[in-house]
Amino acid sequence: MHPKRRPILAGNWKMNMTATQTRDLASKLVPLVANVKDRDIVLGPPFTSIAAAADVIRGTNIGLAAQNLHWEDKGAFTGEISADMLLDSGCKYVIIGHSERRQYFGETDETVNKKVKQALKKGLLPIMCVGETLAEREAGKLNEVIGRQVTGGLKDVSADDMKKVVIAYEPVWAIGTGKTATPEQANEVHALIRGKVRSLYTADIAEGIRIQYGGSVTPENVSQLMAKPDIDGALVGGASLKPDSFAALVNFK
Ligand code: PEP
Repeated sequence: MHPKRRPILAGNWKMNMTATQTRDLASKLVPLVANVKDRDIVLGPPFTSIAAAADVIRGTNIGLAAQNLHWEDKGAFTGEISADMLLDSGCKYVIIGHSERRQYFGETDETVNKKVKQALKKGLLPIMCVGETLAEREAGKLNEVIGRQVTGGLKDVSADDMKKVVIAYEPVWAIGTGKTATPEQANEVHALIRGKVRSLYTADIAEGIRIQYGGSVTPENVSQLMAKPDIDGALVGGASLKPDSFAALVNFK
């Protein structure tokens, strides 16, 4: 954590939570985090539950994220969701390029870049995910992979727009595996990402942007991760699906 950067804790529900379950979870969560003022809290329900979540969290300190969007404004793109649809449903953020989308749905640095630019054009705040696989890490390709994902994802994003981007570092080997990167390992890559942003933009922009860590974050390990200078938040899968654990995580000391 850094005094200049406001922590951002986001839950990525993935393909979990019907609208009914969403109402229940969000209603339980709201009072548990009502006193939080110094950090951003974000929920990322699946598309069909966004309206239910928006209903429950209206007027609270919780923001809404979608888990994906399409890069075109509208048209013949069966099964896709546009930025206007997300804005109209109450979303402020959108998660882009999650490793599951890269791995199973053909997401590439090029499509991530198109989506980041579309989100920014429309006024959604992108949470752009990057991260290496275990094979890439073991082959000594960490710098190369992260550098390529950051540069590719941010291609042609202006300096002004860059200030609105959140980057999530999610080592693929730590997602849903119970295997967290150590705070030192995570901070090292966060510093690498910040350095990359510095080289693409300016030192000021690099110092200002928020970089979340994701990968088996729990109420038990969040404080040690957040104690590191380059870790500005968490993107949380499993532990965001229960109101008590997500609230405990948000309320880290
Ligand atoms: C994620 O989905 O972004 C994630 C980090 O999942 P988990 O916390 O379950 O590892």
